[in-house]
Amino acid sequence: MNAEIIAIGSEMLTPHRQDTNSLFLTDRLNSLGVTVDFKTIVGDNFTHLTSAVATALSRVDIVLLSGGLGPTEDDLTREAVASVLKLNLKRNNDLLAGLHTRFAKRGITMSDNNAKQADVIDGAVVLPNANGSAPGQFMDTVVGKHRKLVILLPGPPKEMKAMYDAEVRPRLHSILPPRFITKRMLRIALVPESTVDARVAPIYKGYSDVETTILAHNGEIQLHFQYAGVSLNQAQARVDEVASRCEQEMGDDVFSSHGESLEEVVQLLLGLKDVRVATAESCTGGWLAQRLTSLPNASRTFLGGVVAYSNDLKNSFTDVPESVIDAFGAVSGAVARAMAEGIRTRTGAEIGIGITGIAGPGGGTDEKPVGLVFVALADGQDTDVKKLSLSGDRERIRWWATQNALDMLRR
Ligand code: ATP
Ligand code: MG
Repeated sequence: MNAEIIAIGSEMLTPHRQDTNSLFLTDRLNSLGVTVDFKTIVGDNFTHLTSAVATALSRVDIVLLSGGLGPTEDDLTREAVASVLKLNLKRNNDLLAGLHTRFAKRGITMSDNNAKQADVIDGAVVLPNANGSAPGQFMDTVVGKHRKLVILLPGPPKEMKAMYDAEVRPRLHSILPPRFITKRMLRIALVPESTVDARVAPIYKGYSDVETTILAHNGEIQLHFQYAGVSLNQAQARVDEVASRCEQEMGDDVFSSHGESLEEVVQLLLGLKDVRVATAESCTGGWLAQRLTSLPNASRTFLGGVVAYSNDLKNSFTDVPESVIDAFGAVSGAVARAMAEGIRTRTGAEIGIGITGIAGPGGGTDEKPVGLVFVALADGQDTDVKKLSLSGDRERIRWWATQNALDMLRR
C-alpha cells in the first residue's frame, strides 16, 4: 500500500512556514507498513487543489490531506475532494448543532460561514475533532476499479495529530493487512559515500523488498535498511541478512552495526579494554574532549585533557621539546607525537592523543596548507601518527580531525 500526503495552505508556499504535518504522518504510516511515495504542498486555490487531489488519486492507494477544513473562504478541501470524486456535500444537522453548542458555550454567536464545517462528503465517516471545531472525514471508496482511502484532517498540528491517533490509525489498522516494520542502521566512518555505495550496492540491490537508503552526514555514512514483513521474525531476519552482508563487505570500517554513535562505541570499547584516555589538542580547541565527555560515565574512560594552542603551552603542558617545534614547526607529525606521548606520561593515562593542524581559513602555506592536521595516538608501546589533508571550512576541518581521532581510538 502506498500513500500521498497533501499539505494544504498558501502559507506553506511562503518562506515563513513549513509543512511539518507530513513528517508526523509519514512516520505513522510507515509504522503500518504504508510507504509515502509522494508529498504535495498546495495553496488555498480550488483549481490547484482539485488538480492535486486528482493526481494523487491516480497514483496512490491512500490520500491524506491536511488543512483547509476551517470556516473561511479559502478553506476549500471538502469542496475540492467532493468535486474530484463527483460526490455531493451535505450539511450534517448533528454536526451543525454541535457547532452551535460549541460557540454558545463560549458565549459567542456563530457566524454563518462556520456552518460549512458541518458539510460532509457523501459516504464519508465524520472524525470528531477533540481540539478544534473542524471535523475530519474518512472515505473508503472506489475510483475507477480501484479501492481508495481518502482522509481529510485539519491543518493545525495539534488537532491533526490527536485526530490521526484517535480516529485514523485504528481505522487504517483494521483495513490494512498486518505489517511488521523492522529497521536497522550501519554506520561507517571516514569512507567516501561513493566508495561505500560502490561496494554495498551490488549486495542491497539483490534485496529489492528491503528499502535501503545511504546518507552521508558529518564524516560518516549511514546505511539504513527497512523492511515491512508479515511477521516480526520474518522482517527481522530479512533486514539482518542484508545488513550483515553489507557489514561483512565493509569490514572494520563499520563502527556501528545497530546505530550506536561513534562516541558510544569508543566509550564502550575503551571500557571493555579498561583503558583511559587523555588528550592534548591544538586546532580542535577541546572539541575531542567535549565529544569524549558527551556521554554519562565518561570518567571511566577519560581522564582529562589540555588545549595547548601556543607553542609555549605545547611545551609547558605536554613537554614538547622546543627543539622539536623549531625543527618541524608546530603543525607537524613530530609535534602531534610529542603531544600525545607527553600528555600520556603527565596524566598516567593508558592512551594519549595529540592533535595539531591548520583549521584556516588563513595561515596555510604551500608546504602546509589549510586542512593539514596530524593526529597521534600513543599507547606506551607505539605511537601512531595520522596525517590528514582535510577540506572544507574551519568547522568541518576541526570536526573531521576529532572524527579521525575517535576512529583511531576505536581500532
Ligand atoms: P482552521 O480551522 O484553523 O482554519 P484548517 O483545517 O483550515 O483549520 P489551516 O487553516 O490550513 O487548517 O491551517 C491552520 C494552521 O495550522 C496554519 O496557520 C498553520 O500554522 C498550521 N498548519 C496547517 N497545515 C500545516 C502543515 N502541513 N504543517 C504544519 N503546520 C500546518
Ligand atoms: Mg483554515
